[in-house]
Order: sequence, then C-alpha cells, then structure tokens
Amino acid sequence: MIGPNKFCRRLLDDLYDGVYFVDPERVIKYWNKSAERLTGYSSSEILGRHCQDNILMHVDLRGRNLCRGLCPLLKSMKEDTTTEQEVYLRHKDGHRVPVRVRASPIKDGEGRIIGAFEIFSDNSPRFALAQRVQELQRLALLDPLTEIGNRRYAELTLHARMNEFYRYGWKFGVLFMDIDHFKKINDTYGHDMGDNLLRMIARTLQNGVRSSDEVCRWGGEEFVALIANIDKEALGSLAEKLRRLVEHSKPFFENKLVDVTISIGATISRLNDTPEGLIRRADGIMYRAKLSGRNCVVIE
Ligand code: GH3
Ligand code: MG
Ligand code: MG
Repeated sequence: MIGPNKFCRRLLDDLYDGVYFVDPERVIKYWNKSAERLTGYSSSEILGRHCQDNILMHVDLRGRNLCRGLCPLLKSMKEDTTTEQEVYLRHKDGHRVPVRVRASPIKDGEGRIIGAFEIFSDNSPRFALAQRVQELQRLALLDPLTEIGNRRYAELTLHARMNEFYRYGWKFGVLFMDIDHFKKINDTYGHDMGDNLLRMIARTLQNGVRSSDEVCRWGGEEFVALIANIDKEALGSLAEKLRRLVEHSKPFFENKLVDVTISIGATISRLNDTPEGLIRRADGIMYRAKLSGRNCVVIE
C-alpha cells in the first residue's frame, strides 16, 4: 500500500505544487491540497479513481490526449525514469490549465516499482511569457539578445497607447532608461559580460513591471518602458523601484560582484505629444539624470 505517513502528508500538503501518487494500475492513492486547488477536485472525489478515468485528461502542447499510451506516469513506471513535460490538465470547471509535470517511479525497499508520483505546478505566467516570446520572434519584433520587445515593438506599442490616450484619455508613463558607464563595463569585463548584463537588466526590468506594461530595448544599452494608466507620483515610485532593483542585481565576474546602475528619465503623456516627441522628452529628462550624477531618477 503506498501513501505518505502523517509527517510526510503534512509536508506535502504545505507544498505549493500539486502532488499525487498512483499504484501500478494507476489508481490514485494520494492527492495533496495544492492538487485540489489547481484542479478543483477534492481528494475525496479523486482517491480510488484511475488517472486515465477522464478526470484530468492531460493533453500535451499539441492537444494530444496523454492518457492512452503517452501517460508520463506509465512511462516513468515502465522505464524506471523521471519524465518532465509541459501539459494542459483539465480543471473540474472544464477549462484547461497549463502545468509543468514531473513523474517518477516509487520503489519499495527491494527496489521494485510499486507506483509512481506526479508533481505539477501552475505554468500560466511562464507559459504566457514563452508564448509571447515565440509570437514576437515570428513578427520580428523581438530583440534576440535580451528576448524583450525591440525598438520597432516599442514604437508600435507607443502608437497604440497614444491612440488610446487621444480616444479614451488614458494617460500613460514613459521611462527612458540608460545603463551608466556601460562602455567602461565592456572595456573592463569584456563584451560577453556586457551582453550578460544587458540580458540581466532586461529581465529585472520586465519582472519589475505589471503585465499590462511594456519594457523594450530601444537601442544599445537603452530601454524604454511604457506604463499603462499611471499618474506622476506612482510613475516616480515605479521608476525608483526599477532603479533600485537594477542597482541590487549584481552578476559575478571571476568571483567578484559587478556593480551596474541605470539612469532614468520619467514623463507622462500629454495631449499635444507626438510619439516621437514623447520619447525625445523622456530621453532629454534621462540626460538630466546623467548630469545629476547617474544612478538616479528624474521626473519632469
Ligand atoms: P553613460 O553613463 O553616459 O550612458 O555612459 P555609457 O558608457 O553607458 O554610454 P556610451 O553611449 O558612451 O556607451 C554605450 C556603450 O554600450 C558603447 C557600446 O559598445 C555598448 N553597447 C551597445 N550595444 C551593446 C551590446 O549589444 N552589447 C554590449 N556588450 N555592449 C553594447
Ligand atoms: Mg546610451
Ligand atoms: Mg549609457
């Protein structure tokens, strides 16, 4: 009989990931709290049922049903191996949830396979991001080095935001961000390290804004962020947060941490703005941040 003891059960129930166990016939023997949360099925509805009973109906990214033949649990038991896969499970309410699953065999003291377990985690934000990267790549709007939108993408988004602003009055913020003394960083640590820093900063900036905002690579070591629906005060705090996040994102170079900072110019859209004029203004404000000693935010 497989199933966790009381201590393990408490531990497993506290996990953020969904976990379940099956026996060799793929009858579900254990179902943790996160599995309940992620699927909508309570443990009492699930225990004793077969995982191929059309409950979760895992399908892979191409929409193929995995319960017949391609089941990760079955594979892990047959081949005594751990498998990892991105799949969609079926929520009790019917909709599909993207999850990352890992299946491994469970063995008894003699090493005989007596079942398998699956760990699955919600894949939605990561998944959405990966899909977006693919889509932008397809449209040639992705900067290949940093994997965020390129200048063309920034310009398209800027035009769209401008149109919304004229039509509905939705103000938005522009942050023009430039890495400080980046030439010196390249000269000191090499161009590859410079590239690493660009990737790192792009990721930090993107992780620092909401999904309705856009961070793009404007050129060399310059980034532009378009921040939806924001007033001057909130834009200033956001810029300050991003500045600080970058200041504290230090990569290692030969066992030493590399310091890198950015200067930010921040401005809010105005009614007489053109897209080009708006960016030029933000760039000009950024230049004032450079003159004030760098590693700071200036807001008009
Ligand atoms: P400031 O603080 O005034 O902005 O100084 P800075 O050195 O950052 O500015 P400058 O414009 O003099 O130099 C920008 C440097 O960015 C020069 C260029 O070689 C480097 N750069 C631009 N694109 C890339 C890139 O894709 N990879 C790397 N590694 N470096 C880049
Ligand atoms: Mg520059
Ligand atoms: Mg610079």
